[in-house]
Amino acid sequence: MSNKYQVPRGTQDIMGDDVSLWRQVESIIREQCARYGYQEIRTPIFEHTEVFKFQNDSSDMVTKEMYTFLDSGERSLTLRPEGTKGVIRAFVEHKLYGNQAELPYKLFYMGPMFRYERPQKGRYRQFHQFGVEAIGAKSPLLDAETIALGYNITRAMGIKKVKILINSLGDDESRSNYRSALREHFRPYLGELCGDCQRRFELNPLRILDCKVDREHPSFKSAPSVQDYLNEPSKKYFSQVLQALDDLEIPYVIDSRLVRGLDYYTNTVFEAIPEDASGQQAAVFAGGQYDGLVEHYGGGNLPGVGFGMGIERMIDLAVQEQGLTAVGHEADVYVISMGNVGSYALKATETLRNAGFRVETDYQGRSLKAQFKASDRLKAKVIVIIGEDEYSNGQVVIKDTVSKQQVTVGFDKLLETVKGFTGE
Ligand code: ATP
Ligand code: MG
Repeated sequence: MSNKYQVPRGTQDIMGDDVSLWRQVESIIREQCARYGYQEIRTPIFEHTEVFKFQNDSSDMVTKEMYTFLDSGERSLTLRPEGTKGVIRAFVEHKLYGNQAELPYKLFYMGPMFRYERPQKGRYRQFHQFGVEAIGAKSPLLDAETIALGYNITRAMGIKKVKILINSLGDDESRSNYRSALREHFRPYLGELCGDCQRRFELNPLRILDCKVDREHPSFKSAPSVQDYLNEPSKKYFSQVLQALDDLEIPYVIDSRLVRGLDYYTNTVFEAIPEDASGQQAAVFAGGQYDGLVEHYGGGNLPGVGFGMGIERMIDLAVQEQGLTAVGHEADVYVISMGNVGSYALKATETLRNAGFRVETDYQGRSLKAQFKASDRLKAKVIVIIGEDEYSNGQVVIKDTVSKQQVTVGFDKLLETVKGFTGE
């Protein structure tokens, strides 16, 4: 039996120096989003199940991976498995489509997502996504800009070895023609394909191409390519996206098998994977253009484009490529206290903290050696030493650990002297 006092399978505690990696990533993301004009939105972690579950949905995420439960009021709720749907629901609920002048409306989100998956490296049951949605405009330039944002975030994290795979699923007409061609093609092999693919065959044969079970089946290699089914407007749109990426010098590879795991994509779809990707949990960010989603929630016929980025996978890559390094917890000043000094050392500590310094001290009367060690560990540049003499004279000893200079001053000169030593 599993120990109930351990984290549930597929979840983890993020702690220690690793937290500094998360903070660095979050700050890079916020900075880049500000540059691109994206505003943050924080939607609920759970929503009515209907927000995520569409009729005839054929994606694994919706059919197998959702955490759905009834609350005590018998409502069916679902922990969000992805960011886009909640954001579009909010966009419609708050009628953000009302002001034409503000379109495209650019929103980003960051936070935990939940999927019931088989946990392995880079695949968890609670994981974190950052994502963007530009809603209410459709342009090859906007698609290219969205890809540029994802790409620049990977670069800003020091990740160099990713490549962008891109494809076009075309508009409704193109996709409908392609779906028919795929049905035609897979029909003779249907009996040899997995149960999921047999279902996908009816609902959305495009998603057969995304199957992780059947991908080595010979019929996959000979399957028709979507490129051959794009109508003229779709072809033109795609070539304009590619042209813009060329102009922005963003490297990409066209992958006509790329359909992405979600059901709602139209036209441009893309995925960024590590150059040496071998496993199946490789994509660091992925997304595309969608036409029908705003309308689905009752918001009129507005298009959108966006991507979702897996933060755990990004951090793994960034650390591997040494683009990011974890930083330990540090202090500017350590206050050492010796003997019976009452709250005098704590008062010195608080005086410095209130002035903005990061300060730590000892609470348990540990030895001088132990306190110096603690100060070393925290990389404190300045040490304040307070013994019984300093306490009775109203003084403090202040030592600069770099220059080794040491002075004894009155308590009223504490702040000024520390500032002098730290160069504040
Ligand atoms: P995959 O093919 O790896 O299952 P997906 O198509 O389900 O990915 P999306 O729904 O597009 O992924 O999510 C966007 C990004 O979120 C992925 O590219 C990945 O970086 C990350 N991601 C998705 N599922 C997980 C998970 N279970 N654990 C960690 N990261 C995940
Ligand atoms: Mg998945």
